[in-house]
Amino acid sequence: MATVQEELEKLLKLQEIDSKLQDINTLLQELPAQLRNLEREDVFLRQEMEEFKKATTHLKVERRQKETELKAIEEQIKSLQSKLFDVKTNKEYQALQSEIQTLKMKASSLEDEILVHMEQDEQLKEKEKSLLLRIEQHKKIMVQKQREIEDKIEKLKAEQLLIQQERDECASNINRLLIDLYTRVKKSKKDGIAVCRISEDSNGCVCGGCYVYIPGYLREKVKKKTEIVQCENCGRILAE
Ligand SMILES: [Zn+2]
Repeated sequence: MATVQEELEKLLKLQEIDSKLQDINTLLQELPAQLRNLEREDVFLRQEMEEFKKATTHLKVERRQKETELKAIEEQIKSLQSKLFDVKTNKEYQALQSEIQTLKMKASSLEDEILVHMEQDEQLKEKEKSLLLRIEQHKKIMVQKQREIEDKIEKLKAEQLLIQQERDECASNINRLLIDLYTRVKKSKKDGIAVCRISEDSNGCVCGGCYVYIPGYLREKVKKKTEIVQCENCGRILAE
């Protein structure tokens, strides 16, 4: 039969294995989230591109409308100008001239608006280029990272399997009741630490789990190694 010290050493080993498993589990939970973040960013960029395309289309439609309007006005001006030769009175002539003038002003302001649109179109084209570049770059990074993350997950799962086997073997060599106690204490601890070594300083002996001083008689029990001792403050199993 194993001595208490031997049992405790095995328990400490088990805990070390459990910590490794815990780290792997944490990573296995975090890595898919990293993947999802990358995918989300990709969707976001594509949505931005969609919005952008809508804006560009809208601008083009507006510009085309203005160009059509301008053409119609120019036709109107031409037609009015040809009528100038046929008018009989000065009054009619003046009226036509004034009408032509108004139309010319309208045409000129439409031309200005079309110019502004063309400038905006240039700017949008530049933005579109840079957005496309961002999408491509992100896609490249995403594909590469996806591969890395998937690789990592695969390796971790293989490692997890090996460590789990190691754990099973280690646990099978420990007293059942002690394992039960270990499991109970572990479950109640946020850090998952159920067994810890005591340490001594000038003021006395400290629990390695909660860092509270343990009374002398408890320390003696730990040192004697004839029974399993738990910290009175945190309940962790104490080893020397
Ligand atoms: Zn403690």
